[in-house]
Amino acid sequence: MDRKPIGAYEFWFVVGSQFLYGPETLAQVASHAEQMVEGLNSSGILPAKVVYRATVKTPQEIELCVREANYAETCAGIITWMHTFSPSKMWINGLNLLQKPYCHLHTQFNRTIPDTEIDMDFMNLNQSAHGDREHAFIAARMRIGRKIITGFWEDAQVRQSLGSWMRSAIGAVESRKLKVIRFGDNMRNVAVTEGDKVGVQMQLGWQVNTWGVGDLVRELETVTEAEVDTQMQAYRDTYELVTKEVETVRYQAREEVAMRRFLEREGAQAFSNTFEDLQQMRQLPGLASQDLMKEGYGYGGEGDWKVSAMTSLIKRMTEGMGGGTSFMEDYTYHLEKGNELSLGAHMLEICPSISADKARIEVHALGIGGKEPPARLVFEGHPGKAVLVSLVDMGGRVRLIVNDIEVVKPIFRMPKLPVARVMWRPEPDLNMASHLWMLAGGAHHAVLSYDATAEMLEDWCEIMAIEFVHINRDSTVASMKQQLFLSDLAWKLR
Ligand code: MN
Repeated sequence: MDRKPIGAYEFWFVVGSQFLYGPETLAQVASHAEQMVEGLNSSGILPAKVVYRATVKTPQEIELCVREANYAETCAGIITWMHTFSPSKMWINGLNLLQKPYCHLHTQFNRTIPDTEIDMDFMNLNQSAHGDREHAFIAARMRIGRKIITGFWEDAQVRQSLGSWMRSAIGAVESRKLKVIRFGDNMRNVAVTEGDKVGVQMQLGWQVNTWGVGDLVRELETVTEAEVDTQMQAYRDTYELVTKEVETVRYQAREEVAMRRFLEREGAQAFSNTFEDLQQMRQLPGLASQDLMKEGYGYGGEGDWKVSAMTSLIKRMTEGMGGGTSFMEDYTYHLEKGNELSLGAHMLEICPSISADKARIEVHALGIGGKEPPARLVFEGHPGKAVLVSLVDMGGRVRLIVNDIEVVKPIFRMPKLPVARVMWRPEPDLNMASHLWMLAGGAHHAVLSYDATAEMLEDWCEIMAIEFVHINRDSTVASMKQQLFLSDLAWKLR
């Protein structure tokens, strides 16, 4: 996929102050800020660079800084910190204009109070304890969504939280650029895969448009044997080719080349299709969709463009983390008492980025859709902590539902199951988690990610100003019902 790594983004560190303290103190403020930025960047924890931008001292300086941030293509957000006091009525005009993600880092240059040295000069320079409270008040008063991170800037926890928020912010900026191609419409009669594409574009920025399957069929016809050969070599380099039906695999290679070309031409990062609308395509793309997902593209089955877009965005937010992210579907349960598990899979399209071992290319008949048996990747998902994510359209708004889960090594071999499989135990347990998921209207489709966390996704929702529901070890039916009831009221008022 042709795009810059997320490390090409930068975040502006903006330090608030005022003229009261004189040039000597302001020079110290700038020097301390530079040391902090240097420390943050060299920690290796942040996904992109923090850039010390300015020590702002007047309403004009603040407004100018915000306007420049809004229009800077590479700037994915601002991080503010008040080393000294910065009267926050000065910030009103600037914050009113702010369109980029906003993090308030409440920290202090020095970790400890220097007992024998401390005097009023020290106090005037090191006063974020009250300067940041003044700053936080105005954001609260203006109801501005922002991330607050508190703690000493050298602590790993602070840096991890900042790094996580930076990924959310990049996800927000990328959300505004996201294009989704729908090859054909949604599967007929399915409710949860529908949604208000205009509303979603207004809220999240996604451009979701449909192309007829005939357009893709024509693209397929122009793929050359040489291009198929190159794609086949890529498959052999990455996966284990265990089938003798090479012609079937070559057809998937052809589909992949055609779809990639299509996506690149339109500048799209995600796509959906449905087994119900394949026209002259001989196979449902299985291996082709799986390999495109591994490259970073979002995918949604049965025309589910929302899950496709979320898969793409979460892959982008978590770039370089290595745990893996895939389109997923709750398929069937293991309801053994005390060892309840969900078996996730799909007809074909699970991303091999989550595979425990080298994925195998196999060919099997598909019981549905009436096309040729398609080639697909078969593997087990690796164990580890993960999240399951579903974005649903509630009518007038979208809601993001996140469930913390623990993926386990599948407890059975399931030798006759011809698809990739993942087994997990959701928090707080399978029965309660599915109860809560369904109360909130969560879909059967989801994004499974080992890299994204509930915190990262909550921050993303905060920036996008959408509803967030978290199912975790402390969730109960009573609290979930109350939250959903109150948020219905709140969102009607917006
Ligand atoms: Mn499905």
